[in-house]
Amino acid sequence: MKTRVKVFVTGLVQGVGFRPFVYRLAEELGLKGYVLNSELGVVIEAEGEKEELHTFLIRLQSEKPPIAKIFSLEYKFLEPVGYKDFEIRKSEKGGEVKVCVLPDLATCKECLKELFDKKDRRYRYPFINCTNCGPRFTIIEELPYDRPNTSMKEFKMCEKCLSEYEDPTDRRFHAQPNACPKCGPYVFFVDESKKVVCKDEEAIRKVIEYLEAGKIVALKGLGGFHLICDATREETVRELRRKKRREEKPFAVMFKDLNTIKEYAEVSPLEERALTSVESPIVILNKKPGTDLAESVSPENNTVGVFLPYTPLHHVVLNDFKRPIVATSANVTDEPIVKDNDEALSIVGEIADGALLHNRRIVRRCDDSVVRVIAGRQVPIRRSRGFVPVPVVLPFSLKRPVLALGAHMKNTVAVAKGNKVYLSQHVGDVDNPKAEEFLREVVGDMLKLFEVEPEVVVCDRHPLYYSTRYGREKFGDRLVQVYHHHAHVISCMAENEVPLEGRVIGVAFDGTGYGRDGTIWGGEFLIAGYTDFERRYHLKTFRLPGGDRAVKEPYRVAVSLLLSSGIDPRKVLPVDGKKLSLLEQMVKKGVNSPLTSSMGRLFDGVSAILGIREKVTYQAQAAILLEQRALHFSTEEAYHFDVTGGEVDWRPVVEQIVKDRSTLSVEEIARKFHNTVASMVVRVVDRLREETGLDTVALSGGVFQNKLLTEILYEDLRSKGFKVLLHQIVPPNDGGISLGQAVYGGLV
Ligand code: ZN
Ligand code: ZN
Ligand code: FE
Repeated sequence: MKTRVKVFVTGLVQGVGFRPFVYRLAEELGLKGYVLNSELGVVIEAEGEKEELHTFLIRLQSEKPPIAKIFSLEYKFLEPVGYKDFEIRKSEKGGEVKVCVLPDLATCKECLKELFDKKDRRYRYPFINCTNCGPRFTIIEELPYDRPNTSMKEFKMCEKCLSEYEDPTDRRFHAQPNACPKCGPYVFFVDESKKVVCKDEEAIRKVIEYLEAGKIVALKGLGGFHLICDATREETVRELRRKKRREEKPFAVMFKDLNTIKEYAEVSPLEERALTSVESPIVILNKKPGTDLAESVSPENNTVGVFLPYTPLHHVVLNDFKRPIVATSANVTDEPIVKDNDEALSIVGEIADGALLHNRRIVRRCDDSVVRVIAGRQVPIRRSRGFVPVPVVLPFSLKRPVLALGAHMKNTVAVAKGNKVYLSQHVGDVDNPKAEEFLREVVGDMLKLFEVEPEVVVCDRHPLYYSTRYGREKFGDRLVQVYHHHAHVISCMAENEVPLEGRVIGVAFDGTGYGRDGTIWGGEFLIAGYTDFERRYHLKTFRLPGGDRAVKEPYRVAVSLLLSSGIDPRKVLPVDGKKLSLLEQMVKKGVNSPLTSSMGRLFDGVSAILGIREKVTYQAQAAILLEQRALHFSTEEAYHFDVTGGEVDWRPVVEQIVKDRSTLSVEEIARKFHNTVASMVVRVVDRLREETGLDTVALSGGVFQNKLLTEILYEDLRSKGFKVLLHQIVPPNDGGISLGQAVYGGLV
């Protein structure tokens, strides 16, 4: 079946033979479409078979003309439109590239070669960079992007560096962060006593010494500090968990090179492309069995987030230390990533045993990005370093400039004008004073950086979110509120280029969001346009005894699901009787037990009923582990459920699951449950197609980070003739909400 891919490339891609190269590649692969220069860079659309398009994406990166430089490459699969040939189209509006703020770029091949060339003057210099690589977003103070406007202004270039910088034929011509060991930043090491003990090569040796000894080191990176340690030492990884107060949430692992990654994990061609892309994100991969990776890196989980070194400092450390390292953001759980030297010093002795610091200031915090390949698409789980601040391009122009404040968890904010939406880096969960401060900081920063004077400011409908309260206080008269799940669906529509008047069947499945009737929504079927929606179906509501506590303790959800299904929880859950009676009362009387229609919670509850997880230590853990178990069994069977009125009734499902528990494995039940949720969607969406004539389905919300569910559903819907929109540019989780909000605010 034919499909279409749309690619946005920024970089030095104009006037360097890039378009002819794209043309030849497309012709060779038999693809139809076009390539064109736009004000943001090169835009390509290509249609063909999936395999050829994958090859096209990979070769775009690996075979580009040597002088062409890619600073960002984002792509998405869209419905084919039936191009007849491949053409080089005339440029849009003269095709002048409007230089704006660039993302940080992973170390390029040329710099890497010099880095390990003994004869080079930058041999093993941790700050080597050139026009094609190095820090950007994280060192810029203001525009235009010139050295005096970056944190490199504190370093005066030596004669050699300056002559490179001024030579138009040099790779470092106008490379703003250009530096060498003589004139640039340097690294130094701080030990347990918070004293500087050595610098340069000696400091690197100290890091290796510490890693060898099973210690934890705080390492200053691009957008903040990582905590690093040997990923093959179980005790060390556990120690890191204890100190960071992060019990089980998976850690990312950095590997020396691609071949080493392949020893530890399965890597598909699209995953390989992502790993080696200039954005260099963390990619979630399936682990290979029997490696020496510590179990505690991602406990009970068949997947692991891996990435490659993306700064020269990482390259040097990974070159010297021969094993993979855990590299997780340095922070206390849920607080923003640590970026300044004095902040880092404060965790030395507490969390880290030592720290490798340097004297180049980080201007902007920026966490690593995370992607997962789902249904043959690269789905962002966190869109941050490397991607930000490349704008999302809309298929239409907004009526007015907008600021969007996002939601609450995994937050991002966005500013928008014309047809571009600039999403911020990952702000995170805005549930502590430091995160709130970070949110305010990012808002000010984005408005200034992109020179946006918002006529409208958008926030969530939830009255208690910090972003809502802040919006009201600061922008009262300009504030517009949009419903959480509508914002999810809008963001999915926008990145998939649904036209202005377009309408879709929106399936918004997540953990929580404030609904029109004051209940907590999260299992929603909407008929939506960009500025309005109707809630047509939803998951039958149930009580959450204890509210937020039920999110952290899924057995509470299980109690509620069981009671609603007429089953005595005592016969199913190994929880003490007193506790159960109390919860029972709460559910029956509705005391401190809000109603929800959340699909995320249904997953949690089923996970608890199956004994997988009674309590969780990180967001969505119960659901994630349920997916993991389901992957170990293959069946097409599903449970029976009802759709009555506007409600999807899951009670028969709970009943059958409880029965199956005595005869079937947890894996089989988990798999049948996934199939069931997929068929719930298919049945409801089928009805909505009959009722409305719409055949485009947008899938949004954190539940669609579930690869198994999304892939089953994608296939089922496609085979029934639906057009399926998935997230490929912004995350399906709340990290993508600000895009939907911005579009809403710019149109209503
Ligand atoms: Zn370079
Ligand atoms: Zn120099
Ligand atoms: Fe959400």
